[in-house]
Amino acid sequence: MINVDSTLPKEAFVIPHHYYDDVESVLIPHGLILNRIEKVAQDIANDAQGSLIACCVLKGASVFYADLMNALRKAQTPDRKSIPFSYEFMKVKSYENDKSTGNVQISLSEDELKSYKGKHLLIVEDIVDTGRTMVALLERLKQYEPASVKVVSMLVKRTPESNGYVPDYFGFSVPDYFVVGYGLDYNEYFREMEHICIISDVGKVKYAV
Ligand code: 5GP
Repeated sequence: MINVDSTLPKEAFVIPHHYYDDVESVLIPHGLILNRIEKVAQDIANDAQGSLIACCVLKGASVFYADLMNALRKAQTPDRKSIPFSYEFMKVKSYENDKSTGNVQISLSEDELKSYKGKHLLIVEDIVDTGRTMVALLERLKQYEPASVKVVSMLVKRTPESNGYVPDYFGFSVPDYFVVGYGLDYNEYFREMEHICIISDVGKVKYAV
């Protein structure tokens, strides 16, 4: 369990000029994220029961997904075998501004879902907050009888709003702030920033819809 508790001063990092006032501080620097991903990929490889369908939950997990897939390509099972995997992408939306709408929309075609029967799925998510999105997604996927479904999330938020859901693998446990960067957005902004940062009040107002 990797608990991130404290923040780092943004002055100590390279932050894109256009976002400098829009973040409060750095929570997880990019280099630390990449290093942790190598270990998470190894943990996934240790448990792999065969070829995987690696399902990226768009758009937030896209950057994490790319780095995780690169690490998984190099990872080996305990008997020193590489793991075959294929790519899948799905859109799941539940937030507006920084508030959960409680209304989870999942965009998957019936054909895609039916092809999951008997397959090992690895769901790749950006952050588990209340857990509602993942529980809804897993509930839906179960109906299509995959052989197994495992979930890897880059972050898990420590929040009193949690429904108790914990993913099979995760990178970091983080405090209850709204975080942006490394694929995580605030109304589509900040995804391209490489560190995971805490958004500032200035940023929340500037990019509100
Ligand atoms: P949950 O259903 O677990 O409450 O929320 C999951 C989704 O909400 C995540 O996939 C993510 O898109 C969004 N989300 C939750 N917390 C944050 C956050 O701190 N920052 C960003 N950018 N998105 C978040």
